[in-house]
Amino acid sequence: MPKHTVNDAGEIDERNDVTLAGLNHKMGFRGSTNTALNFGDGPHTPGGAPGAIGYLVGEQHKGLFYMFHMMNEARIGVGLIATALGYTGYLQSLEYARGRLQGRTASAKDPSSPQAAIIDHADVRRMLIAQKSYAEGALALGLYCSDLVDRQDTAVDDAERERFRLLLDVLTPIAKSWPSQWCLAANDLAIQVHGGAGYTRDYNVEQLYRDNRLNMIHEGTHGIQGLDLLGRKVVMENGAALDALTETVRASLERAKSVGDESLAAFAAEIGVRLDRVLEVTRTIWDGTSPDVALANASIYLEAVGHLVLAWIWLEQSLAALGKEGSFYEGKHVAAAYFRRYELPKIDAQLDLLASLDRLTVDLDPAWF
Ligand SMILES: Cc1cc2nc3c(=O)[nH]c(=O)nc-3n(C[C@H](O)[C@H](O)[C@H](O)COP(=O)(O)OP(=O)(O)OC[C@H]3O[C@@H](n4cnc5c(N)ncnc54)[C@H](O)[C@@H]3O)c2cc1C
Repeated sequence: MPKHTVNDAGEIDERNDVTLAGLNHKMGFRGSTNTALNFGDGPHTPGGAPGAIGYLVGEQHKGLFYMFHMMNEARIGVGLIATALGYTGYLQSLEYARGRLQGRTASAKDPSSPQAAIIDHADVRRMLIAQKSYAEGALALGLYCSDLVDRQDTAVDDAERERFRLLLDVLTPIAKSWPSQWCLAANDLAIQVHGGAGYTRDYNVEQLYRDNRLNMIHEGTHGIQGLDLLGRKVVMENGAALDALTETVRASLERAKSVGDESLAAFAAEIGVRLDRVLEVTRTIWDGTSPDVALANASIYLEAVGHLVLAWIWLEQSLAALGKEGSFYEGKHVAAAYFRRYELPKIDAQLDLLASLDRLTVDLDPAWF
């Protein structure tokens, strides 16, 4: 990798100070190369010692601040890539399930009756609707956050701009990590829907899974997003970002309760209970306990709040679909119902654990592994 440097006398030194040590051979994401670079292994000797020259970009001691500015949009981008991979796997497994004949439904006793397409088995439908709820939920969240980026840039009212900034701040770790986790889970289900064929390279779904596995790792690992959410975002500016999110979610809940639809009102009430619980648990976590204990289960906090946010996103999609006819809108309602009945209740156990300020992972002696 040739790179010019300028020595103290202002002369261009054409030798390399950054050397390519090799390529990393990756599990997936093979469309782009991943290089291992060594800085200072070349013949260049700035100041008389082997090394490389770095250039200060911007002001001293503001690097992290600049990095976060750049990273925030990159994180939403990672969430959207994860979403695209999850969505593609969903569509491919849906097509496969419509065409693959295997077995008969439980009530079809006649062995000479035609075989069922696997999409007629409830367990396969469960795997498909789960994928739809993850991928379309993640897509809606990614679009919502991208819209916040635009609104933050174009708002003419300062208070509005501030609200968009706070919402974006608190949602960014979720927009990155939730799709990375759950659209990967969608890819896992897409393989399962394909059965043995899904484990072969005859179909694309194994590649989608391998490609998507990166997204929980790069641009800040899952654990780091958890620390960002619990350690920074929900406490920053006296909880202003969490307040902005709470107000926004509560406004949706009120709307859902007022449209005259029993099921939407019930969904809103269930989200409201969990929202109160998240606020209570957040206070408990930061109420005088040591930071080590407070942050020990930050990933679980991220996952619980992420599911709560996605329940709200699905409530919004249901509201948008209300009163409209056709399979597209029915699909939105059933995916929202899936998320409400199968996914949202999962966070209760996570919130119980968080409220208990469990010390297992803090007190664990590494010698015991
Ligand atoms: C294919 C690929 C492409 C990449 N491209 C780029 C790129 O273009 N530019 C770039 O700069 N980087 C790139 N990276 C690097 C990537 O951003 C890092 O791998 C990632 O941020 C994780 O850092 P790490 O590998 O050092 O893991 P580590 O920091 O060692 O983390 C290992 C584990 O420990 C956990 N952990 C670490 N610190 C803490 C903590 N304080 N508290 C709790 N848990 C913790 C992590 O969550 C993780 O589970 C790329 C990586 C890959 C795999």
